[in-house]
Amino acid sequence: MFSTITLQKVSKYYGNNDALIWALQDITTVFHQKDFTSIIGASGSGKSTLLNMIGTLERPSSGNVLLGDRDVTMLHSNDLADIRSRNIGFIFQQFHLLPSLTALENVCIPLFHQHVPFHKEKRAKELLQLVGLKEKISSFPSQLSGGQQQRVAIARALITRPDWLLADEPTGNLDSETGKNIFELLISVKEINHCGIILVTHDPSLAEKTDRIIEMKDGAIIRDEMIRSQEKVKQ
Ligand code: ADP
Ligand code: MG
Repeated sequence: MFSTITLQKVSKYYGNNDALIWALQDITTVFHQKDFTSIIGASGSGKSTLLNMIGTLERPSSGNVLLGDRDVTMLHSNDLADIRSRNIGFIFQQFHLLPSLTALENVCIPLFHQHVPFHKEKRAKELLQLVGLKEKISSFPSQLSGGQQQRVAIARALITRPDWLLADEPTGNLDSETGKNIFELLISVKEINHCGIILVTHDPSLAEKTDRIIEMKDGAIIRDEMIRSQEKVKQ
């Protein structure tokens, strides 16, 4: 359990000396669990790389990543995977559901290595109800619309009760109305589960509704604005 994620002078480059691509340059910032943070910027500006650093899916070329007070930069990848599976839920543009499994079974995937078979299904059903898919628990991904598939993916990301939800352009494959509905679902998920949400989005109109906007350009943060304070909203 950690309520902050800190990046200290994080840089990431790909390739070798002949053709070096700087995906991230010297990023220092703190993410707070109470916030709904959005990351915007042009294609190729480093949004996904930044999110992957935050979620420990990738290691920085230099700099440090701290989960709470703990520096995890050099942790063994097995230990990082373990931390992720307990604390961080991921949502992607392409849903990444397994086509041969039902909605209910897809939601249970993250629990397969945890030995809680009895409670598994109950929680999965509750989550499918939360995302508005109570009637679809036995449907396969091919029988669901894009928006419905993303709802299954959100339920799957929540099944481990993560402290953080990281979403990389979750509305990117959806029409704008469906995208808006998915965004509204993320807002209510935050209210119910109190998890930190970090959303990468192409859509500035969605970003404007979050608490904090980070704008990327050429691997650097060119804008970091707190547009809404959770404390103030609650008072
Ligand atoms: P965004 O998500 O904003 O579109 P990315 O973080 O995916 O941007 O990419 C940032 C830069 O890093 C781009 O120039 C991209 O081509 C490059 N990049 C990302 N991943 C890799 C990789 N695995 N190998 C080489 N270059 C990469
Ligand atoms: Mg991207």
